[in-house]
Amino acid sequence: MLRLTELRLPLEHPADALAPAIARRLGIDVADLLDFTVFKRSYDARKSDALTFIYTIDLSVRDEAAVLKRFADDRHVAPAPDVRYSFVAHAPADFGPRPLVVGFGPCGIFAALVLAQMGFRPIVLERGKAVRERTQDTWGLWRRHELNPESNVQFGEGGAGTFSDGKLYSQIKDPKHYGRKVLTEFVKAGAPEEILYVSKPHIGTFRLVGMVEQMRAEIESLGGEIRFQQRVTDVLIEDGHIRGVVLASGEQLRSDHVVLALGHSARDTFEMLHSRGVFMEAKPFSVGFRIEHPQSLIDKARLGKYAGNPLLGAADYKLVHHAKNGRSVYSFCMCPGGTVVAATSEPNRVVTNGMSQYSRNERNANAGIVVGITPEDYPGGPLAGIAFQRELESRAFVLGGGGYNAPAQLVGDFIAGRPSTRLGSVEPSYKPGVTLGDLSTALPAYAIEAMREAIPAFERQIRGFSMHDAVLTGVETRTSSPLRLTRGEDCQSLNVKGLYPAGEGAGYAGGILSAGVDGIRVAEAVAQQMLADAGRG
Ligand code: FAD
Repeated sequence: MLRLTELRLPLEHPADALAPAIARRLGIDVADLLDFTVFKRSYDARKSDALTFIYTIDLSVRDEAAVLKRFADDRHVAPAPDVRYSFVAHAPADFGPRPLVVGFGPCGIFAALVLAQMGFRPIVLERGKAVRERTQDTWGLWRRHELNPESNVQFGEGGAGTFSDGKLYSQIKDPKHYGRKVLTEFVKAGAPEEILYVSKPHIGTFRLVGMVEQMRAEIESLGGEIRFQQRVTDVLIEDGHIRGVVLASGEQLRSDHVVLALGHSARDTFEMLHSRGVFMEAKPFSVGFRIEHPQSLIDKARLGKYAGNPLLGAADYKLVHHAKNGRSVYSFCMCPGGTVVAATSEPNRVVTNGMSQYSRNERNANAGIVVGITPEDYPGGPLAGIAFQRELESRAFVLGGGGYNAPAQLVGDFIAGRPSTRLGSVEPSYKPGVTLGDLSTALPAYAIEAMREAIPAFERQIRGFSMHDAVLTGVETRTSSPLRLTRGEDCQSLNVKGLYPAGEGAGYAGGILSAGVDGIRVAEAVAQQMLADAGRG
């Protein structure tokens, strides 16, 4: 199998133009091209006057050695890497011990799935509800101002990314191609095939719900168990080794291998782990606001005359600005054609985030515009970042006027330093609703200063970005975990053997794909350790 990269074709080329283009590029007859698949397809938005699709193709030809020889000096023609997933272990049929997986977000799902596929019959404990019931509770906050602290945007089957844009890309290093395994399993569970090859795949909220159910069914069919509304409230540690967990019901579950795939919002669980002496440390994260523009403005700025072309879909952006006060301001979790959502898991606090459907056809584009902060900004130990987040989220609740309304301000007013009193041409999408005013006290002064400098600077990349009527909604605080449950090379906690901190909450992932990848990595470590402990490695 060969891999051909950087094959460019006009945007609106017919589907059957690929084979002759490949053959032409390789200087062979079409008849000698035996087979090919598109591994990746992207486009370069910087050249918006002449957009082309850029393909990476995996292919077989009649005489592979001859082609390789002829293109020995061409880095765009090479043997294709093997991206298929191979299991590192298999549990013997009579294997008794079972691992526990706490949390059923993308990390917990993939940890449990891969453990189940290797025959280890994991037991998953998830504090929230199954995804359909959870959906009703989540809408309860958005429509009726009612928060269920155990079943919401952060907690429940599918984890934090279930009500999201479902972006499935990441910049992590992935030498073992675990990301491919994640995407392949998603396709098996009902995601569109295109996620395997488009450069920035996304699936949107509705599809994620069905996919999560499918993956649950597969884990169960392989002997795994998934228990909902089972919050882990304590860990049983004996002589530096995990021996099990305690549930809110008081029930104890014994196991010498426990994966903690908690997500970044399990604040009570982090506090419990800290009180039990599990090693953790504060880590940097970011805080800011959501910004909303008309999607048409972003499309025009990014795609020029191709704006609105259905082959390209709604345009996205990624922006960074290094402010004079030393802070970095960047766009986070950009959701084209989506909505801003209420994402708190705690009463009387306001947190924003973004979501969309697969079609991405809502009127507004939204993104977090966030400022990087470090533990020096919130001194006080591993849990100090949580206290810092809580303070900002509580303040936002007050500024929003209660009822989970979010405080908001027009960009023009924010930059000029005056409160907003009236909406302009951009209708904010945040539900339950926004309260216009002054966001300058919603974040520390250094963050406000950096954002006031960054938003006009982003105008250089996206014309109209600092338009007066664009809406800022606050606050965006759950950008990543404020702490790290540090682990060693063996994926186990630095001071509790058999405990495997994983995914975003532990500080080892940021986003759905990387959380899934970390779940696979940890499942492999668990499987190998379990076999070794049982003397069957
Ligand atoms: P989580 O998904 O947070 O899962 C953790 C699970 O653990 C939760 O279900 C929780 O209920 C459970 N849990 C916590 N404590 C306990 C306990 N004590 N006992 C039992 N269970 C417990 N990322 C992207 O890549 N693309 C996007 O488009 C995107 N959009 C997003 C939109 C929104 C609104 C939000 C909130 C997030 C979005 N993200 C997105 C981020 C992404 O969802 C997370 O990075 C990802 O879900 C992290 O996966 P995880 O499995 O590590 O943690």
